[in-house]
Amino acid sequence: MNSLFFKSALTAVIFSASGFASTLYRGATVLTLADGDNAGHANGYLLVSDDGTIEAVGQGDPLSDPAVRAVHFTADWKTVDLTGKIVMPGFVSGHGHLWQSAFRGIAPDGELWPWLMALHWTYGKFFAPGDFAAFTRHGALDQLRHGITTTHNHSQWLPGQDYGLYHEQFDAESKIPQHFVFSWVSQSTATDEEWRARLKPMLALLKPAPATPLLGFTVSANGMPGRKGQAPDLLSREIKLAREFNLPVHLHYLEPAAQAEEDRAKWPKIKEAGAAAPGVSYAHFIQVDETILKEAAAAGAAMIWNPLSNGRLASGLADIPHYLAVGLKVGMGEDGQASGDISDPFENVRLGLYALRMKERNARGLQPIDILRLHTVRTAEILGVSSCVGTLAPGKFADFLVVDPDSPATGPVFDAAATLVFACSSQNLAAVYVGGRKVVKDGQLVEDDVALEADVATRVARVRQAAADMKAHPPVTHP
Ligand SMILES: [Zn+2]
Repeated sequence: MNSLFFKSALTAVIFSASGFASTLYRGATVLTLADGDNAGHANGYLLVSDDGTIEAVGQGDPLSDPAVRAVHFTADWKTVDLTGKIVMPGFVSGHGHLWQSAFRGIAPDGELWPWLMALHWTYGKFFAPGDFAAFTRHGALDQLRHGITTTHNHSQWLPGQDYGLYHEQFDAESKIPQHFVFSWVSQSTATDEEWRARLKPMLALLKPAPATPLLGFTVSANGMPGRKGQAPDLLSREIKLAREFNLPVHLHYLEPAAQAEEDRAKWPKIKEAGAAAPGVSYAHFIQVDETILKEAAAAGAAMIWNPLSNGRLASGLADIPHYLAVGLKVGMGEDGQASGDISDPFENVRLGLYALRMKERNARGLQPIDILRLHTVRTAEILGVSSCVGTLAPGKFADFLVVDPDSPATGPVFDAAATLVFACSSQNLAAVYVGGRKVVKDGQLVEDDVALEADVATRVARVRQAAADMKAHPPVTHP
């Protein structure tokens, strides 16, 4: 493929006149992941403006084209040689809970409910100021190191916590050079007015830019019809709020196998609440029946597939090829690191594809290029941020990965997408760029937080001790 795309000449002139230099990354196989571009550009290039956006992407020597020279070239153009490397868009994780990064390996014999019991309901009430911030930072930096340049953080409000503690998750992410979409929790006991008062100042901060972490919001809907202790209209209120502010909605649905029948029975109420509609995505959505699947697809809803987490918690394997065939929108996520214990998107796509092939005994279904799109552009579309990230195209943010298939050595490359999905891991990441800025080099964060591991370990030790003390000496309750 040898196509060139350019931003308007006018924009380029403005950059040149302002003295911005551009950087030309050349010599790599560039997989744009744009629809129709399955082979990528052999000996491709990516031209990135110093404002962090992509100016042009194509094949060969851009300077041999007089049009490129005239529009884009300036004397201070920098060149980076990436011969032998593969360049692809940064991964987009469509579902996760970053704070869980501090609690890996927990409840190894538990499916969803025992695992939740061991995590949220054992430790959540002992979080002190600074814990959520440190744990969220731990999770986000870990994702970044593994090539996730945009994350959808399904923030959580744990039992007994106040708004200040909850809000640390947002503040922590705002200080990390990773793009994030914040899934905002309404908190079930608050009124609609209280919701608006909390949400509006946060929405005012939203100004998407290559160098700005905050990329968008979704409403995290926690209302589930029939859930004990919950107002029956919670879900419809959450949906109404999301519509009022034109935000996508994200909710957990049809995850654990043990509760499949009970969860499926909630579908009519979910539809009634307005949660089967465009802009709504379900995390997991494994235990569907044909009616739910087809109605969700027809309604324009979407799902986020989390193979690592679904394997770890024995939740099951969503029939992704069938979902796609009926027209459901599908994205991918890592989930929190307490259930998808490493946030390596290369492992997520490999495990997901292998699991489907084991079940189907057929290799002609989903292909490596397809699953790379699910974990990038398709997820970005579901989150409403695909005008900024998800593919390598002029005008989008320069969020990209430089993968070195020679380190560790994976042998000659026959098909770039197949090498990425079948043969590479995040160990092959030579560099991760966000908004044109290199944030990871040879597996290490460029701005490492060396004190973070010790800080997180101290905090987790304190939380564990408090939970153990509570277990040893439960509070005396008087009848
Ligand atoms: Zn989740």
